[in-house]
Amino acid sequence: MYKLLASLLTFPILLLPMETSAAGTRFVSIGTGGVTGVYYPVGGSIAKLLNKKRGVYGLKVTAEATGGSVFNINALGKGDMDLGLAQSDKVTQAWEGSADWTERGPRKELRGICTLQSETVCLIAAVHSGITACSDLRGKIVAVGNPGSGTRDNSLDALATCGLTFRDLGKAEGIKAAEAAGLLQDGRLDAYFYTVGHPNGSIKEAASGRTKVRFVPFTNLGELLKRNPFYSKAVIPIQFYEGAENREDVPTFGVKACLVTTDKVSDEIVYAVTKELFENLDTFRKLHPALEDLDKEAMLTGVPVPIHPGALKYFKEAGLTDHLSKQ
Ligand code: GLU
Repeated sequence: MYKLLASLLTFPILLLPMETSAAGTRFVSIGTGGVTGVYYPVGGSIAKLLNKKRGVYGLKVTAEATGGSVFNINALGKGDMDLGLAQSDKVTQAWEGSADWTERGPRKELRGICTLQSETVCLIAAVHSGITACSDLRGKIVAVGNPGSGTRDNSLDALATCGLTFRDLGKAEGIKAAEAAGLLQDGRLDAYFYTVGHPNGSIKEAASGRTKVRFVPFTNLGELLKRNPFYSKAVIPIQFYEGAENREDVPTFGVKACLVTTDKVSDEIVYAVTKELFENLDTFRKLHPALEDLDKEAMLTGVPVPIHPGALKYFKEAGLTDHLSKQ
């Protein structure tokens, strides 16, 4: 009887449209990445800023753990998510309909809000594996990024700088970065790739266990950068990873994390997100150390897709549109 009553009471709620609850609160989801990455806490920080103003905007924002950039872009396209974090290379390819989107076609619904932290392509190897350069990966057991991650294609591109593909590896594992650190420590992986901002939990975990680890540099970048203009030279800041064997910043290549949405998401929601993010930038920067160096100008530079009208409305009001023209 109680069960019946309970189901009768909950049933009307299930009939309401997903975005709106009985109290008029709109639910907004942000697709992030694995829980030990930077996207997840960054998405959580954006949610926190907005949820503080629930009384003003009526938004309840949640950060969802996901497989990463490619998953988020596809979830946005299906309307399963409202906002997402994704690497600038992946956003560019989705917009153009290349790489992961060659068969699915261009994702012209994508709209940009801003760029966020820099991310670098990291290869973390167990010292005992003897891997000191890209070409040493031949025959090794390497985690190359889970399906849905941005990391996966970056590993392929990184391997190409020394003429290797996944087939040249002993095994190319598709496991998540969150699991890779532990498996490297347990001796079940020789190395793993992770495209991520710094500092982040997974690499800290990998660098502070009994198995000694090192970052492997990527320096033969001429051809890669020429063919893929969305990549740029970058370094892994070693000061965050005292346990790693390297003593200096490690040369590699990188991208930027972007906050993206679609043309289906309302101007009101995107305006609120943009305004809260930009007007509370000092607070936001303190919520995660990878955000510490953000500034407004850099955040408006290099957004690979058209800016959403809701974001543009805020940038106009705040007199920030000059920075946008530098895209
Ligand atoms: N860049 C990674 C990816 O899209 C995610 C990094 C993170 O979670 O911070 O696969």
